[in-house]
Amino acid sequence: MTETLHAALQKHFGYSEFRPLQEEIVNSLLAGKNAFVLMPTGGGKSLCYQLPAAVSDGVTLVVSPLIALMKDQVDQLNAAGISATFLNSTLSGQEMDQRMGNALAGKYKLIYVAPERLVNGSFLAFLDRVKLSLVAVDEAHCISEWGHDFRAEYRKLSLIKERWPNVPLIAMTATATSRVQEDILRQLHLGGAKTFRASFNRPNLHYRVLPKRKQFDELVTFLNRHKSECGIVYCLSRDGTEQLAKALQQQGFRAIPYHAGLERDARSRNQEKFSRDEVEIVCATIAFGMGINKSNVRYVVHYDLPKNLAGYYQETGRAGRDGLDAECLLFFSLSDRVKLLRFIDDMSDDKERIHARKELDLMVGFAQCEDCRRAKLLAYFDEAFNERPCSGCDNCSDPTSQKKYDVTRQAQMFLSCVLRVNQKFGAGHVIAILRGSENQKVIDWRHDQLPTYGVGKEYSQSEWKWVAAELHRLGYIMQDHEQHGVIRVTSKGIQSLKDREKVEINMPAKGEGVRIRSGNEGEGIHEELFQRLREIRKEIAVRDDVAPYVIFHDKVLRSIAAGLPLTRDALRDITGVGDIKARRYGEKVLMAVKHYTDEHADAKPIPFELAKFPEIGRPVDGAFQTKSFLDRGMTLEEAANTTGITQGTVVKHVTQLIAAGDEALFKKLVPPERHKLMRDAFESQGWQFLKPVLDHLIENHNGATFTYDELHFIRAYEVWKASSSSQSL
Ligand code: ADP
Ligand code: ZN
Repeated sequence: MTETLHAALQKHFGYSEFRPLQEEIVNSLLAGKNAFVLMPTGGGKSLCYQLPAAVSDGVTLVVSPLIALMKDQVDQLNAAGISATFLNSTLSGQEMDQRMGNALAGKYKLIYVAPERLVNGSFLAFLDRVKLSLVAVDEAHCISEWGHDFRAEYRKLSLIKERWPNVPLIAMTATATSRVQEDILRQLHLGGAKTFRASFNRPNLHYRVLPKRKQFDELVTFLNRHKSECGIVYCLSRDGTEQLAKALQQQGFRAIPYHAGLERDARSRNQEKFSRDEVEIVCATIAFGMGINKSNVRYVVHYDLPKNLAGYYQETGRAGRDGLDAECLLFFSLSDRVKLLRFIDDMSDDKERIHARKELDLMVGFAQCEDCRRAKLLAYFDEAFNERPCSGCDNCSDPTSQKKYDVTRQAQMFLSCVLRVNQKFGAGHVIAILRGSENQKVIDWRHDQLPTYGVGKEYSQSEWKWVAAELHRLGYIMQDHEQHGVIRVTSKGIQSLKDREKVEINMPAKGEGVRIRSGNEGEGIHEELFQRLREIRKEIAVRDDVAPYVIFHDKVLRSIAAGLPLTRDALRDITGVGDIKARRYGEKVLMAVKHYTDEHADAKPIPFELAKFPEIGRPVDGAFQTKSFLDRGMTLEEAANTTGITQGTVVKHVTQLIAAGDEALFKKLVPPERHKLMRDAFESQGWQFLKPVLDHLIENHNGATFTYDELHFIRAYEVWKASSSSQSL
């Protein structure tokens, strides 16, 4: 059996290996047992029922909550040569009859339906006439009121086990909270089902939190790094999404809004545009997401603070489904917390209100945490995570965010000002007083008479906001739950005022500076070919009226653009290319590769995983000192002697500066002729190792001298150019 399962995996899906748990789940279903599957987004849940469906007689019924999702899934299955259809309200009566007729004639392996249709009496009668081999309930958390997407129709799905007790049922969700899980098992009568729980870690997602100051500028910087890549920016309010989308359009981005207040047509049009790569950015409320099957979402930004970690996990989870690196950026401010508290306090149910507050506290705890974010997030789902550094979060990978900053004087000012206004005002007002503002509220309350009035003028508004946020995180002040936003000094704060205790806070991380390593850029692929393959994919997608990723995921195109397959067999060796896809789209793809290799006679296959360049860190503090000496005209050696560091360290500093874009420094150190000469040597020997390049140069340029220093600089310059050109794509 296992043998043929592997063959089917390759044939239909083009994969040579199962992902964790997939094989066990498939086997369990084929043995007629029920299964409850907990897997993060991108974990590969669909295959767990699609593969059994492909190898079984009879029909697999898939219950799926969103119509847009159904079409995509069905398109993907048909593209892979597995016949499937959906039955929902978008069909005309005639189409419906025709598809139902086909189903009765045994023409489909899978039928997708919405829950409301399934529970309808005449539809049940129809189902009694087809041979069901499996029932799959996707997004099973919709059954739970505790979940984030409760759907009343899901409740009725309890009839599945009552009506078809002997047909195996698989329920799947990416929601990891135990309350929701228990609910699903109970509601679907799955008491005895085996639970398959995968790790909820998403190693390819990189987490980062920035203070919410100048957030629009920060966002623009961030988006500029992701030019031509797709992503979602979540906002709290509907208005927020529209305003942000407009502001981004004015900056030249292709951005559209999405929220439940848009008309149905506009909503599905916008979703479609995003899905088909026609726009890059969706500014959305949390109404956007469940129907998004798009695999190449490269980033998810939370422009406002989410209500809880379950939601944050779900929303960020929509990034990087294809397994390639993706970034999750959260803007955090305490005033967002106050805003959310206002909503929470409007809740009428006491228990729910208390629960919501706790959840918000956990969310804030995540935003403020100093240890690994990934570990913090997984801990919320009771999963222990101990790897440090993790595969990517600001706290693990950016040491500057750990740098301490002495704010004793500011803390004293802030705390005493809070006491001066009798702990009756919010942070904004306190800051206004400290900065000597003449706004009406300050005047009305005669707060311009206070001794602390204007004492903190020298610090900007945003610096003060950051200090306040840090004092909160460190427990010197608290925000009153009952009276929103009112700041009180805690006993710890009082004590520190008395003792004039030293107060140290973290430096806010800087958006432009922090560059989380993204394995997708500068990766060894033939970029021009990749772009050409994307165009071809688009043409096929338009022709077949499907979303581009239905044809091939980005990852597959990247592998092709690296491996340069020239035959159909070689193409089939690429992960993600099954027999059917190789047959259907292979010719166009192979032609493109052939053209490319004809035009570039020297183009060689690149092992996909090997990065083109080794990694070069960001400039350390000492680098700027080194630079100041070099700028004064010192040689590398003189700079080393003056600062008392080795020349090797000076070279390292310079390398870092060049890789970060210090072109002037580079030009000063490397004359253009030598640059060209050595660059050619790199091109012929590869960019990973310096020794072969140096040997090559010495061999080919008799008598000339070459040093490793220059090679370092040239490679760093190339790294910078590669990263800045990938930004301006
Ligand atoms: P989920 O429904 O759990 O979010 P999907 O079923 O959409 O995840 O799968 C996520 C991605 O992983 C898809 O691009 C899918 O093609 C890919 N995938 C699934 N199983 C495998 C596998 N065994 N090997 C390689 N890729 C896989
Ligand atoms: Zn981490």
